[in-house]
Amino acid sequence: MHPVLVIIPAAALILGPQLWVRYVLGQHDREEEDGLDTAGDLARELLDRHRLDTVKVESTDQGDHYDPDAKAVRLNRDKMTSKTLTAVTTAAHEVGHALQDASGYAPFVWRTRLAKVAQITGQAGSLTLLAAPVAALVSRHPVPPIVIGAAAIAMIGTGVAAQLATLPTELDASFGRALPMLRDGYISPEQEKAARKILTACSLTYVASSLAGVLTVWRWFPGGVGAKMARPTYPPEARVRRLRRAHPARRPTARAWVLVG
Ligand SMILES: [Zn+2]
Repeated sequence: MHPVLVIIPAAALILGPQLWVRYVLGQHDREEEDGLDTAGDLARELLDRHRLDTVKVESTDQGDHYDPDAKAVRLNRDKMTSKTLTAVTTAAHEVGHALQDASGYAPFVWRTRLAKVAQITGQAGSLTLLAAPVAALVSRHPVPPIVIGAAAIAMIGTGVAAQLATLPTELDASFGRALPMLRDGYISPEQEKAARKILTACSLTYVASSLAGVLTVWRWFPGGVGAKMARPTYPPEARVRRLRRAHPARRPTARAWVLVG
């Protein structure tokens, strides 16, 4: 198959949802809604209501996320005091992750573990790939393809596994937790429609990045791993950057990889 036949639909699949999510989030981030709490206050109230008073609500410049190590829901500085639907829906979504953590929700636990492993294999894998030509030059023997193949598979495989665990985690945080919480007296039926649209737009970006991950792995298999070694490999930072572009709420820091947006 000609590469263009894969690249164009894949690009549309990844960029389409990103453009749509940007449009939907922007549309509902312009006006403050009547009767809503600020996103920061709402997050605090929802956490207290679920007896998670030890979970902190903090403002950040790193994008909205829940930090399972620090037990903190972090919202962007401008969202913290905002009463727009985008801000309060995001706050409820992040509280959803805190509830997953507290209840030991399996996809969340696995996503967190796999993201940490992916961070290590990503670094070890790219080090191996960088060291291989040097080792071959010094020893005057080519590095066995199995070593390079194993490094590449470990590097990409764990990243993709983390991506796949992200999908049920995000869908549950949005539709299994955030929406029912908001519906329970915090938003009107009219606002609920918009909140659902915001959460659906965000979910599409997770589906797109999981698909992108699967496509990445698939690329390595036909024709054997060794045959693909001539193709460019991306260092983990670039990979994180590409994944992060699919999740516009977060910035490309290495640490953010293990946080849940
Ligand atoms: Zn999330």
